[in-house]
Amino acid sequence: MTQMELARQGKVTDAIRAVAEAEGIPAEAVRRDVADGRIAIPLNKNRRATRIMGVGRGLRVKVNANLGTSPDYADVAAELEKLAAAVEAGADAIMDLSTGGDIPAIRRRLMDACAVTVGTVPIYEAAANAARQHGDIAQMTAEDILGAVRRHAEDGVDFVTVHGGVTRRITESDAVRRRVCGMVSRGGTFLAHWMRRHQQENPLLERFDEVLDIAREFDVTLSLGDGLRPGAIADAMDGPQIEELMVLADLARRAVAAGVQVMIEGPGHVPLDQVEAQVKLQKELTGGLPFYVLGPIVTDIAPGYDHITSAIGGAVAAMAGADFLCYVTPTEHLGLPRPEDVREGVIAARIAAHAGDVARGRAEARAWDRRLSEARSRRDWPRQLAEAIDPERARALRHERRPGHEDVCSMCGDYCVFKVRNGGGKKEP
Ligand code: SF4
Repeated sequence: MTQMELARQGKVTDAIRAVAEAEGIPAEAVRRDVADGRIAIPLNKNRRATRIMGVGRGLRVKVNANLGTSPDYADVAAELEKLAAAVEAGADAIMDLSTGGDIPAIRRRLMDACAVTVGTVPIYEAAANAARQHGDIAQMTAEDILGAVRRHAEDGVDFVTVHGGVTRRITESDAVRRRVCGMVSRGGTFLAHWMRRHQQENPLLERFDEVLDIAREFDVTLSLGDGLRPGAIADAMDGPQIEELMVLADLARRAVAAGVQVMIEGPGHVPLDQVEAQVKLQKELTGGLPFYVLGPIVTDIAPGYDHITSAIGGAVAAMAGADFLCYVTPTEHLGLPRPEDVREGVIAARIAAHAGDVARGRAEARAWDRRLSEARSRRDWPRQLAEAIDPERARALRHERRPGHEDVCSMCGDYCVFKVRNGGGKKEP
């Protein structure tokens, strides 16, 4: 049985208890929300994760880091290094999006080394296999796509992205052709290419009941991918995006009815003034199911700084009710990230998630800010640095820009307001 089915029977499972303890809320409240789908606990029956996370109502906003090889860089050692960087920086989950090298072997190596929740996009493997064997991703069959979902589930993947909302009707519409950047989701684009070639509907939609059977067998959480997410500010909140969201809401209802845990994925590139509306719309259409957003990136003009553009959008999305933020690294749109980019991306997304938690009035988030402020006010430097979200960076900067006196920083020196206020504003001999 799935966590959701057990919760519906009134059982407080070990996973539910672990989430409740980590969040500091009653296990019964978590059980209730798992039962109705408003909290997902992505945890495959075949997985032995040591850090379980819950995503959804009343819980801390979580952060995911995307990893994975590309056809140009398929080095498993580099991916393991990035995994270590992501987990050390505080990611709650990672997704292996590998498309290069021995994809199953890379996935298994990452999962063996990974203590946190793991997600994947199985269609990447099906498409990469077809491209290698036949020179064209459209040569994959519907069986290949469903077979990839099953293999990932058997391997113990905790959540899988399935782009069931990418319909033939939407992908062939003039509205998509009019977009500045068209479709930018890889999975969505693979499916659109496949549908055009075969003149058939999306197998992940048509055979969604089979997807549900696999998910139920292994208690894999379905992350309903937004293959039509906007990839440009000019394309945000258009017809294809909203139509897809309505299809995803319908699929999500079917998943919940089948006892399968589910999240909905969201955009993408979204102007700041639309972020709140996008979150509210998703919550309204799905009855409050967990919302997993990529960024959102709030302006297109900052390649090299998209960890910042996405953190701005992520903070507003989290404040409005988004539950799970997918990080964006400084190399987004530019190249495959290195470990230092992964680290920076995770920290940026964690700041956004925490800012959302603070705005939502979460007691432990507010308490963390207070502890740091009190240490700052006392000029208790060791405590202030220890409380920083990235103590390593805070220590390095303080050390590098050393003040003349250890009780202040080099910004104001002896004119430090905290020192002056306490009558200590004169230089000591
Ligand atoms: S020296 Fe200035 S910037 Fe530094 S802690 Fe004191 S008031 Fe803040």
